[in-house]
Amino acid sequence: MLSARGLEAQVVRIVEDLAERTEEAKSSEEVVRYLKFCSAFREYSLYNTLLIWRQKPEATQVAGFGAWKKLGRQVKKGEKGIAILAPVFRRQEDEESEEQRLRGFRRVYVFDVSQTEGKDLPDAPIATDGNCHDNLPLALMRVADDHQITIEVEPQVGSYGVSLGGQIKIRLGLSASDFFATLAHELAHEMLHQNSAGKSLSKKEKEIEAETVAHVVCSYFQIPTAAPAYLALHGATSDEILIRLANLTSVIRTLIEGVETHLADPEIQQVI
Ligand SMILES: [Zn+2]
Repeated sequence: MLSARGLEAQVVRIVEDLAERTEEAKSSEEVVRYLKFCSAFREYSLYNTLLIWRQKPEATQVAGFGAWKKLGRQVKKGEKGIAILAPVFRRQEDEESEEQRLRGFRRVYVFDVSQTEGKDLPDAPIATDGNCHDNLPLALMRVADDHQITIEVEPQVGSYGVSLGGQIKIRLGLSASDFFATLAHELAHEMLHQNSAGKSLSKKEKEIEAETVAHVVCSYFQIPTAAPAYLALHGATSDEILIRLANLTSVIRTLIEGVETHLADPEIQQVI
């Protein structure tokens, strides 16, 4: 096992490299293309999210008729739209003013991706690329177990994984390396963001922390990740990544040492 100082120096090198590659990824073709795709989906208000959920709980990507058309997809015949409320604005009486005043809401209809057909949608460029032996995911699952965190693998998980506080859900059918990277990411959320200090961080700060932890743990076990693209999609800057490192060293150490300990389990050795 590495000495504390040896590991720390290695972690700093990995994170500095990640910060640099995230900046580069921002102008990469795959990230630019995916961000353009994402801009077709607007962010819905909490109330509209609730309306969508009540009418179609399994909805994952929702957009209007015209937005789907622009993406090369058509709403299938006979599909019923999901009703949401769109704000209606009125120009101020005084013509000089550009300001608009909210006049009310009108009902508009949106459709989930499952109600449409046509051109394939691009996947987020966040899959890991490379192989990892099945014993690595198994060892990381044992680490979750050591911390009383249960793992469920399900077909209907919107993203690769989700951290629910004491429970992690991971999408069924991921490759071993994607499973390992996702589990490391969600474990970081569990260990860093389920307490009151962690909960007060912004969404972006949480994602930077979780993905940096996952990237360091993966790199340590020689799994190449798509962390630069993932962080670029979240608009993270090099400085924003480096500044969070001090928060992360203890969780990184817990995960790496935990995996190494379990890799040495005779039970896991037998699986190899
Ligand atoms: Zn996350």
